[in-house]
Amino acid sequence: MPRFYVDLPLTLNTKLELPDSVVRHMNVLRLRVGDTVAFFNGDGCDYTANISQLGKRQAEVNISECEKLDNESNLRITLMPSLIASDKFDLIIQKAVELGVSEIIPVISQYTQRLSSDKISSRMEHWHKIIIASCEQSARATIPRLSAPILFHDALLAVNNAEGKYILSPHHEQQQFLAQVPISSVAVLVGPEGGFSLSEVEEAQAHGFSTLQLGTRILRAETAAICIMALCQSYFGDIHLIQK
Ligand code: SAH
Repeated sequence: MPRFYVDLPLTLNTKLELPDSVVRHMNVLRLRVGDTVAFFNGDGCDYTANISQLGKRQAEVNISECEKLDNESNLRITLMPSLIASDKFDLIIQKAVELGVSEIIPVISQYTQRLSSDKISSRMEHWHKIIIASCEQSARATIPRLSAPILFHDALLAVNNAEGKYILSPHHEQQQFLAQVPISSVAVLVGPEGGFSLSEVEEAQAHGFSTLQLGTRILRAETAAICIMALCQSYFGDIHLIQK
């Protein structure tokens, strides 16, 4: 069933007029009057609706069912990827949402290419669209938070309350393996193409971060981000390959 995000209050047994972007999307999908579709607005529920009118510019649906979804991970993952080339960063966002991230905090570290301040708001809008599209696709009805990019030092302070804090570095010994005790929140820093500087790793360690090494090969930043998301869900979250 096609699923659409709408930034509107959704109420059972009401008619809803849809925003232009959703009407366009419905037409692209060649939906028709009588078809059933689903909507979500980030409140954790999916709303099933029937299309009662569909024109080129406007559409109306009747909301007939509301279902609270139960597919959010018990593990709260805050992913803190350093800014990298924009297509690769987009990929990190898309995959992190699919893999159940709770919050994404883009990080400006020593070796990241600076994003000029006039571009930040358009980039944030672009990332928000990726998050929404990824929620639509992956059947999430809770929308992960997105923060504005922050400096490395501030990122260390932003996740003070996370139970597990890790910095990914291919050049440091495993400081503390992931799966020692069950935890319910984790924050992970991923470096840019040029990696983290030694002083950044040391500063993170001084703030309670443990270094983590993902095997013996150097991964691209986007691969490392996707890999650690999957590992976190597997160790502490909701991807269970082995019966516990
Ligand atoms: N040329 C850089 C490589 C950076 S890879 C360097 O030598 O440091 C980009 C980021 O991905 C790294 O900063 C790190 O956070 C993560 N990463 C890549 N491979 C990794 C590995 N094997 N273990 C842990 N983190 C890794």
